[in-house]
Amino acid sequence: LKLENKTKEKLQKQICQVVLDHFEKQYTTELGDTWTSIRDVLTHPLCWQYAVLLNKFSQSAELENTLHVKGYHPAFQGPLPYLPASLKCYIRRSPGRFPAQKHQAGKLKEYYLLNAASLLPVLALEVKDGEDVLDLCAAPGGKSVAILQCAYPGQFHCNEYDDLRSRWLKQTIESFIPDPLINLIKVSQLDGRQIGDLQPESYDKVLVDAPCSNDRSWLFSSDIQQATLRLIQRKELSSLQFQLLRSAIKALRPGGSLVYSTCTLSKAENSDVINLILNSCSNVMPVDISEMAKAVSQEFTFLGGTQQHEILVLPEKGRAWGPMYVAKLKKM
Ligand code: SAM
Repeated sequence: LKLENKTKEKLQKQICQVVLDHFEKQYTTELGDTWTSIRDVLTHPLCWQYAVLLNKFSQSAELENTLHVKGYHPAFQGPLPYLPASLKCYIRRSPGRFPAQKHQAGKLKEYYLLNAASLLPVLALEVKDGEDVLDLCAAPGGKSVAILQCAYPGQFHCNEYDDLRSRWLKQTIESFIPDPLINLIKVSQLDGRQIGDLQPESYDKVLVDAPCSNDRSWLFSSDIQQATLRLIQRKELSSLQFQLLRSAIKALRPGGSLVYSTCTLSKAENSDVINLILNSCSNVMPVDISEMAKAVSQEFTFLGGTQQHEILVLPEKGRAWGPMYVAKLKKM
């Protein structure tokens, strides 16, 4: 019955035509025919897949057995440095969602459901034990949780500007991270654009998982007025993203690196922003992430012809992950 309800829920989701028309125009120009197959995945929620990220702080052999029985397999395997053995994520080719776990006071959750491509910015960041890490735009906290599956940072600062989302972030951290590790995490509610000035040269790694046009969810906006407003304000996002990046660079120690990510296909919010940073900040250089992309290429489809410091994951049937843009920069 539950499954039937879920299916109904998905079938009832309505495409927002103004958003689709807007994307159609922009992405046909930017991606050509490739957009047609991406659109087919994005507009059909019944094709969507969800990955299951295990929580190493609440391990369960029973859960792994259930996942195997249901046809899931580990997504990232290999002795490469970007694939830490402690990060366990299960995926399967067929669509559908593993049931979400309810919040239970005093009990850690065993897994987090997410788009598998969301782990790529975390892998690209290559956090090592003891490093000081800033997650600049952290809510709801999926990538913060994933970072803590990979390593034990020295300082871990998770920031989220929005009040409601900041509370959501705190709840995620409480649901996944045990004592005493949780006490080492600082959660703040600052405008990420100011952190660079407030805490200059303080971090070894910064994740800028920027506010962006969320292509997948915008296509299903139920409020046409809100969707129209979003499309108008969309042009301002690149300037916000640029300022967040400038702040992240200030917050980095020399020699430190940052990863920038978005969940949109839009060139204006992806490579254009990174190119502007590279052209205007003389103290940053691009970092090659093509080896990492190669290491995970079995599970993801990437846009061809991008530069070595960036990847764009394109959703495809059976590998319906993304959209996700990832770029890596280093401060000199
Ligand atoms: N990293 C999160 C995760 O994996 O769960 C998702 C982050 S979401 C793509 C971007 C977040 O940036 C939103 O929660 C949004 O409220 C927040 N945000 C927007 N403007 C911001 C700002 N000026 N400073 C910091 N965060 C901001």
